[in-house]
Amino acid sequence: MKKHNFSAGPCILPQEVFQEASQALLNFNDSGLSIIEISHRSKDFIAVMEEACSLALELLGLTGKGYKALFLQGGASTQFLMAAYNLLENKAGYINTGAWSAKAIKEAKLFGDVVEVASSKDANYNYIPKGYEIPTGLDYLHLTSNNTIFGTQIKEFPTTDAPLVCDMSSDIFSREIDFSKFGIIYAGAQKNMGPAGTTLVVLKEELLGKVSRTIPSMLDYSIHADKDSMFNTPPVFAVYTSMLTLRWLKKLGGIAAAEKRNIEKADLLYKEIDRNPLFKGFAAKEDRSTMNATFNLTDEAHKAAFDTLLKEGNINGLNGHRSVGGYRASMYNAMELSSVAAVVALMQELEKKA
Ligand SMILES: *Cc1c(COP(=O)(O)O)cnc(C)c1O
Repeated sequence: MKKHNFSAGPCILPQEVFQEASQALLNFNDSGLSIIEISHRSKDFIAVMEEACSLALELLGLTGKGYKALFLQGGASTQFLMAAYNLLENKAGYINTGAWSAKAIKEAKLFGDVVEVASSKDANYNYIPKGYEIPTGLDYLHLTSNNTIFGTQIKEFPTTDAPLVCDMSSDIFSREIDFSKFGIIYAGAQKNMGPAGTTLVVLKEELLGKVSRTIPSMLDYSIHADKDSMFNTPPVFAVYTSMLTLRWLKKLGGIAAAEKRNIEKADLLYKEIDRNPLFKGFAAKEDRSTMNATFNLTDEAHKAAFDTLLKEGNINGLNGHRSVGGYRASMYNAMELSSVAAVVALMQELEKKA
């Protein structure tokens, strides 16, 4: 029986994507060949890469606006250093909203001055800092739109003259934002777009080629852009499966339709967290993520009973990250409302038993 999968990443994808991807592993486009045995330079695969890139731009509303979409390797973690390598000449600003932001800061410090413009570390990252002043003269300002571990999400993005670089790994394609506000957006595929193994990078082409340092080819955005993500062998299966998910999203009605579903799911769960005396939310209410809901038991004595209910209820991946404890429900685009309803029913069952 298929489980309700609340895993934070790698994570749930649409069932029809799993089906199509598995078919392509055996016989891609009726070619008599597997998607993973054909040349990445073949006409068939180039068409996959082109469709993946153009769908990404289209869904983000960035077609024809001077942006390029790339599918690279090395995860979002490589983007922590690649963004700095390519853009940090003197000084960059970082908003520190969680463990991933902190890792991005650590990498950027290898390349220049890093100003921590604001941080919520003082409260174990349970809120998004607001009302901070952004210094002038930054090469860029780096943000993490959704903090996967802590369950907070930036609702209003800051305005500044510096280009915005944003790690959107865990909420890309989940809500309508004016994406043209950003200079670089990056996202590891395995949270809301595809399997692990590829990272989407969407960048404004005018930002490239400005730093004075020499950049190794594999870390140079300009080279990957010039070669249309084919400088070296791309992760063909991860790109193909991401493309299928983007097709699915377009068919669903794009980001607007996904956002509507995501709000419904998040509202259902947060309402129960707030109503049920056995649970409490971790993140500040106004900053709650629609993707990753973090919550704890008010009394740890109920842990064994709740964990048993989850297991019997076919719920996978609801355990919280070790730095927050408790539970985390990751409700990415592909998750159905009925899966969230299943968890809510178990929370109510626990309340009845307690
Ligand atoms: C998972 C995650 C990362 C790390 O991604 P990798 O692809 O594993 O390197 C970075 N940032 C955020 C916000 C994440 O959720």
